[in-house]
Amino acid sequence: MDNENKSIHEFDVNLISEYYSSVERQGPGSPEVTIKALSFIDNLSSESRIADIGCGTGGQTMVLAQNAPGYITGIDLFPIFIELFNSNAAKLNLQVRIKGVIGSMDKLAFQNEELDLIWSEGAIYNIGFERGLNEWRKFLKAGGCIAVSEISWFTEERPAEIDEFWQDAYPEIDTIPNKVAQLMKAGYKPVATFILPEDCWTEHFYAPQVPAQKAFLKKHAGNKTAEEFVANQRHETQLYHKYKEYYGYVFYIGKKI
Ligand code: SAH
Repeated sequence: MDNENKSIHEFDVNLISEYYSSVERQGPGSPEVTIKALSFIDNLSSESRIADIGCGTGGQTMVLAQNAPGYITGIDLFPIFIELFNSNAAKLNLQVRIKGVIGSMDKLAFQNEELDLIWSEGAIYNIGFERGLNEWRKFLKAGGCIAVSEISWFTEERPAEIDEFWQDAYPEIDTIPNKVAQLMKAGYKPVATFILPEDCWTEHFYAPQVPAQKAFLKKHAGNKTAEEFVANQRHETQLYHKYKEYYGYVFYIGKKI
């Protein structure tokens, strides 16, 4: 595999979590999109239990808490993200309803049928879309909902350069109808599916990384891993601008049946 296609997992975890801690979001998304996805969820009350899996520093969790009732547990693998998550919740005076805990999405500590809603923006790829949908389902009550965003192809065919890049980075990338079929096969009714607008990538994800990259490179001058990581991020950004007609993030919302 050449350097350009290196996945996040091959870089130093501490460096990466430091890099992503300096930006508000760790994946594409926006407050408007979180609120839109939430508009399809009809089963929440002040007693509801919600999990935000792969929550990062909680950009979307805070929006969820401000627009939905109930208690939210955010789970992320990286302790530094959870630290920031809990301090962000406290700053907004949401600490009673939001709690961040360190944990892995493949070993979740919920009881069966404990949750009313499972949320996960830009993170289910870490376990794989199908595996996540299947394994997490048992934690939902009957009639509970799942809302996840996932990278998807917009067309049946695409140029080789972008096809190869994503097949290498995430072989489970697939078309929207195939993803919906996987959701149905996993035991959910498809409630809604929508493509995230481009500003979720450009304005909310890539733009804040430009100054973050400069500061990161300055701090880690001469560090090959840091330089390679930033080069990789920049390459991914260029590919997005070149090929955004062919792929993007899609929200998939389902109801457990
Ligand atoms: N939901 C956030 C973060 C998305 S980035 C947002 O949209 O901004 C993906 C997140 O998944 C990162 O925060 C990463 O630390 C987390 N992650 C990666 N592997 C994980 C695992 N096995 N269990 C839990 N979280 C994980």
